[in-house]
Amino acid sequence: MSDAIVILSGASRGLGAALAMAACRPGTLLVTLSRSEPLLVADHAREHGCVHVHHAVDLSDPAQAQAVAQDIFAGLPRDARRYRLINNAATVEPIAQATALDAAVVAHALHLNVAAAMLLTGAFLAAVPASADRRVLNISSGAGRRPMPGWSVYCATKAALDMYTRTVKLEQQASGLRIASLAPGVIDTPMQERIRATLPDAFPAVEDFKALHSTGRLAAPATTAARILHYLERDDFGENEIDDIRHY
Ligand code: NAP
Repeated sequence: MSDAIVILSGASRGLGAALAMAACRPGTLLVTLSRSEPLLVADHAREHGCVHVHHAVDLSDPAQAQAVAQDIFAGLPRDARRYRLINNAATVEPIAQATALDAAVVAHALHLNVAAAMLLTGAFLAAVPASADRRVLNISSGAGRRPMPGWSVYCATKAALDMYTRTVKLEQQASGLRIASLAPGVIDTPMQERIRATLPDAFPAVEDFKALHSTGRLAAPATTAARILHYLERDDFGENEIDDIRHY
């Protein structure tokens, strides 16, 4: 019997890889989802007595996202004490002015950043017994709460994730579900490298992001991951459903 079951999207690099490593504990069943294999996580899980199962999936494809959600939750043990779903996988692309958006890239972002989190959360709610300690953490962004020119799609997807979280919290009020949408701060991940590689015409704030990096103001993924997992276990988790790790 697992003490805790943690389902985490986007575990192959960046914040997700750090969250997966930090979640590896004896008695935990860790289920990860991303296109590439999280090899470091698999090694780390073995060393720490954590059972790790990875699903290779492109979450920007709604059919794949739906199928993997059904697959994971159909086979999930029902007798764990704690169930955690962390919707972390996302893309910051397209980084472009609204006049230069490509339909396929917009759809990719909407499906990955919003629809996949909705499908996984819905399957989680349907499958996990309400008697268990059930928590859903959506990794949002300050960009969902503050507009940034060049990030219209990314900002809109994170704002959508925030509103989805607020709505599910209301729907599930009587069920005991705890859910929150958390801005994780600025973290030194491949996503930040991608942001720094943008041209100012597409993303006027690019120099600010380069300065955050060059002056050492990006958080280390492991530090943020430890803070987030601690936050997820707080007694008051979910009371502030729109939250920011920098408040803790
Ligand atoms: P990252 O370095 O780009 O990593 C993204 C993760 O998502 C990877 O594991 C990637 O795995 C997975 N992913 C991407 N596309 C996918 C797809 N189509 N299907 C399945 N998985 C996919 O990003 P990060 O910086 O760690 O960001 C993690 C979260 O924090 C995101 O929600 C992001 O919006 C949020 N955030 C980050 C920052 C920051 O400063 N880094 C700031 C605010 C919010 P594969 O490529 O192997 O599929």
